[in-house]
Amino acid sequence: MDKNRFDVIVLGGGPAGLTAGIYLSRSKAKTLILDTGMPGGQMVLTYQIANYPGVENISGYQLSSVMKKQAENFGCVIKSNIKLTTLQLEGKQKKAELENGDVFSAPAIILATGGRSRMLNVPGENEFKGRGISYCATCDGDFFQDKEIIVVGGGNSALEEAVALTKYARKVTILHEFDHFQAFEHAVEEAKANKKIDYIMEAHITGFYGDENLRNIKYRSLKTGEISQKAIDGAFIFIGYEANTKVLQSGSVKLNQWNEIVTDENMQTNIEGIFAAGDCRAKRYRQITTAVSDGTVAALNALNFIQK
Ligand SMILES: Cc1cc2nc3c(=O)[nH]c(=O)nc-3n(C[C@H](O)[C@H](O)[C@H](O)COP(=O)(O)OP(=O)(O)OC[C@H]3O[C@@H](n4cnc5c(N)ncnc54)[C@H](O)[C@@H]3O)c2cc1C
Repeated sequence: MDKNRFDVIVLGGGPAGLTAGIYLSRSKAKTLILDTGMPGGQMVLTYQIANYPGVENISGYQLSSVMKKQAENFGCVIKSNIKLTTLQLEGKQKKAELENGDVFSAPAIILATGGRSRMLNVPGENEFKGRGISYCATCDGDFFQDKEIIVVGGGNSALEEAVALTKYARKVTILHEFDHFQAFEHAVEEAKANKKIDYIMEAHITGFYGDENLRNIKYRSLKTGEISQKAIDGAFIFIGYEANTKVLQSGSVKLNQWNEIVTDENMQTNIEGIFAAGDCRAKRYRQITTAVSDGTVAALNALNFIQK
């Protein structure tokens, strides 16, 4: 039998892809996970995970290693740091071709390529990521009990998450580049009614500073050009999200206006045999638990599809 022929190929080895790999391999489906980076996905960037049920506290790296090992122990083949050159999603045998010339085929593909929060790309942002700078209030809000934090952004996520963060923080300052918000009126009203929330409008952050942890930000007024400094314990950045779907953007998989993959509740896309799971999908909540859930549903439906 052709060693490059699989029952299911999973693109992406984050929690969604690894979960799909565990379910598929355990059901004896010949499964290949291809990842352009390290298996574990965004979990690898996460210093501490405190909301994954059954494990009170675990580093993202550790949780990734356990999930990977679990998939491999069931026989799942995982290839990391691959360079994908062609993806053929139509027809009975779908194909993934790599830069080194390898061509893998399978009747079903699960797209689990995840995504990433947009960054400000200013000095100090990379350095203090996970040490005061966060892109997820649900994940990290709890670490900022009674602290003073800043929320960057002016859309629905920024305002809703700023309100949610007042459950923990002593004070939340929203810093936004315009003189008005782009959020729905009810989100703006809710934020304005909250006494713990303050505002810095028409400003851009120019840098993040600190020692072991983030301590200060500098920002520039867009009206006067003046640079100011503010002492803070944390910064949450909500300036948008990008699904990793570039590889699909010129193809026939249906994407929404934000280039997220559209699926039904069975994780089925508009193309037969092509499923999607996790953060690359059009959905509201992006967490490890939701990615794991999507991965399970996609795997079970892919199994059903190949058995037919
Ligand atoms: C800093 C940070 C902290 C977080 N903390 C928490 C937390 O505490 N709790 C929680 O529940 N959630 C947390 N999250 C969110 C959680 O990590 C994500 O929701 C989850 O990892 C999404 O899983 P996924 O498998 O869909 O995608 P990802 O984790 O994004 O994995 C996608 C994988 O696909 C690979 N890939 C990308 N493009 C391709 C391609 N074309 N071909 C093949 N492979 C590709 C990537 O290399 C990556 O490994 C955090 C996120 C971040 C960034």
